[in-house]
Amino acid sequence: MTGPVIAIDGPAGAGKSTVGRAVADRLGVGYLDTGAMYRAVTFAVLRRGVDPRDEEAVLGVAQTVEMTVGEERVMVDGVDATREIRGREVTSAVSSVAANPAVRSLLVDAQRSWVVTRGGGVVEGRDIGTVVFPDADLKLFVTASPRVRAERRVAEAGGDVDEMEASIIERDRLDSTRETSPLAVDPAAVTLDTSGLSIDEVVAAVVAEVEARSVGGGR
Ligand code: C5P
Repeated sequence: MTGPVIAIDGPAGAGKSTVGRAVADRLGVGYLDTGAMYRAVTFAVLRRGVDPRDEEAVLGVAQTVEMTVGEERVMVDGVDATREIRGREVTSAVSSVAANPAVRSLLVDAQRSWVVTRGGGVVEGRDIGTVVFPDADLKLFVTASPRVRAERRVAEAGGDVDEMEASIIERDRLDSTRETSPLAVDPAAVTLDTSGLSIDEVVAAVVAEVEARSVGGGR
């Protein structure tokens, strides 16, 4: 029997991961951060000295990289890359890698296999409800203003709020305007603007949505 598939999409820093993990915990299902997969490939690209804009070479990396994207740790070619995939270098190169259609196709296949193997789960990214799992049981679009997102990221990881806001706006632009699977709101998605909400309030709102729809009910 297949369990529920919950798709969580939204722009950078909107709180998707926190929400995703909390909902997965609540339902007792697995959680997959697909952004970490694009970041892991980008980490390997940079480590191998490949130009992130060289589509063919980047595909070569994606085809040969050995990566494990777990809930706690991300391993890339035998190296623990958990921390480095969140760093500035990977963050500024990841949009180029994610715009590569052949890389997307590989990773989307891996995401679908993950769900089949696990029998459902919470999957978070940019194109999960629109492209990867159009038949998801629940689709959420989690968003917040660029300023609030920048403030949250800086509170977590340090840095300058203005600089972070500019980088977030640029990543939103690249993610929303790329040709393959741009960040877009699925018509069936429930949009949650987390700007004025605490993390606990966001999680409560999502759990209410999950319960209202009886997603995973009785499990
Ligand atoms: O979610 P996170 O900010 O870690 O994602 C990093 C990048 O990976 C995004 O800016 C986007 O370019 C890409 N991404 C994507 N599709 C997904 C998840 C992430 O294109 N499903």
